[in-house]
Amino acid sequence: MIARDDRGCVGHPADVGSAGMARKQGRVGLGSESPSDLWYKNAVIYCVDVKAFQDSNGDGIGDFPGLTSRVDYLAGLGVTAVWLLPFFSSPWRDNGYDVADFYNVDPRLGSLGDVEEFIRTATDRGIRVLTDLVFAHTSDQHPWFLASRSSRQSPYRDYYIWVDTPPEAAPKDLIFPGEEDSNWRYDDRTGQYYFHRFYHFQPKLNPDHPDIQHEFAKIASFWLSVGLSGFRIDAAPFLIDQAGLPGPRAEDPQALLRHLRGVVARRRGDAVLLGEANVTPDQLDAYFGEHGDELELLFGFLVNQGLVLALARQRAEPLARMLQRLPPASAISQFVNFIRNQDELSLDKLSDAERDEVFAAFAPEPDMRIYGRGIRRRLAPMLDADQRRLELAYSLLFSLPGTPVLLYGEEIGMGEDLAVPGRGSVRTAMQWAPERNGGFSSPDTDPATFRAPLIEHGPFGYRRVNVADQRRDDHSLLNRVGRMIRTRRETPELGFGNWRLVAADQPTVLAHDVRWQGGRVLALHNLGPAPCQVGLKLDQSAGLVEDLLGGGDDAPLRRGPLDRIPLAAYGYRWLRLAHRRTVTG
Ligand code: MG
Repeated sequence: MIARDDRGCVGHPADVGSAGMARKQGRVGLGSESPSDLWYKNAVIYCVDVKAFQDSNGDGIGDFPGLTSRVDYLAGLGVTAVWLLPFFSSPWRDNGYDVADFYNVDPRLGSLGDVEEFIRTATDRGIRVLTDLVFAHTSDQHPWFLASRSSRQSPYRDYYIWVDTPPEAAPKDLIFPGEEDSNWRYDDRTGQYYFHRFYHFQPKLNPDHPDIQHEFAKIASFWLSVGLSGFRIDAAPFLIDQAGLPGPRAEDPQALLRHLRGVVARRRGDAVLLGEANVTPDQLDAYFGEHGDELELLFGFLVNQGLVLALARQRAEPLARMLQRLPPASAISQFVNFIRNQDELSLDKLSDAERDEVFAAFAPEPDMRIYGRGIRRRLAPMLDADQRRLELAYSLLFSLPGTPVLLYGEEIGMGEDLAVPGRGSVRTAMQWAPERNGGFSSPDTDPATFRAPLIEHGPFGYRRVNVADQRRDDHSLLNRVGRMIRTRRETPELGFGNWRLVAADQPTVLAHDVRWQGGRVLALHNLGPAPCQVGLKLDQSAGLVEDLLGGGDDAPLRRGPLDRIPLAAYGYRWLRLAHRRTVTG
């Protein structure tokens, strides 16, 4: 039985079994386990697009030698894992999510040796490396697809899905409305249609083909042998959801995830799988697995959308409501929280009225929105670069139940470039310094050649927003975020503990309390624009031991009983409380 506390919140590692073997066997409940086996629960993940991070050779494209040269920056920031967006050989028609060779790095980013050198350097600094596995589809330039479309008799024909007559599409089946008007594409070479869930140049792989599971296993094993610690499973629902496809559905579509989980655990016991599955709460079990035997980690899309609505409304309720809708996670599984990612900020789980409210607050112009459901801006411009609100948002990110992931550049408050079409607006070059080309590439390189555009002008241009300037300013967003990350790592209750919401008498304040192995931490966030004194419904044993972290002008609190707690406008506090040891492990 999966451990859960009496409030239906996340489980406690002490409640379950020997992680190494239990995870390898996909079981829980075998004895005691060490938190270090569950490293991902207290990880801080940093998401990097290699081509946008640091160019080492002046060709205008970020690369692995450049990334390696910035490992000490990442170590200084305090992150414990890096998630690399796809770096495989690709025509780059969908930012590398159109893979043409799963076994090679795109030569514009470096060589396989450069990848290994980055992983070795990161590992030396205690940083694990994850990357995307894009298994829902390939590029139409992948040799499998070239062979598949060469002849109906090709042994690779059924790696993809071909029909004579496509079934009628439902509008909801279109992922990119306005960019694609059908999920089927006619190929005149063999006179049939192939299926694509995303762009037409991304033919969907057939997960039911008997050889596909073996291919996936070989690819994952290869990259584990190079030194990776796990994978993000891109578009996980489209690996197991056969909606819109002809023919009978697989009896057990999740078998593919269980098989991959088993292979990864056998090759490297501490490697993890992180799923991208923006689904409803009742569907999440299909990805965690009934016995924790599928994906350990899932992105917290629901909490993300609650957080954005709470920031827009300046009230705690939307976030509290979404937290309460989360199903109980097992002791092995965990949500991964984020504020912005490399795609659009999807608001599809909000009601139409709620979505309009967020649009009005954060994306008032039509050009700031995309697909009728999302925002294509970064957080800093959405919050008018108000550092108090940015700190509040990141304090929530680092203290909410789950593992935080930070998109590159968020730590300095980078903006977006709305002149770049679609989701590319947030994929601009990293801004390192106030010098020509922002320190991203050689000053001699023509910025027009940059693969990821550099923001040159305006309040979010590299002259005004960059690492070098913020490094020298103790109060900069960079230094505040770095402090939050280091404090988060020193506060393992947040990653491992059982959490609950605490009733607060101010509607702007979200209060939650986390307990783990005798430790107890209370996090307070005032989403409102006015300072307040918040009263909490806490048990009598709760007394302050240490004021771990606070924002803005908040004076540190003194040890002792907690009465009304002052919070600045958009203020936040992390407080370690006295906690009678009630849990044994
Ligand atoms: Mg380069």
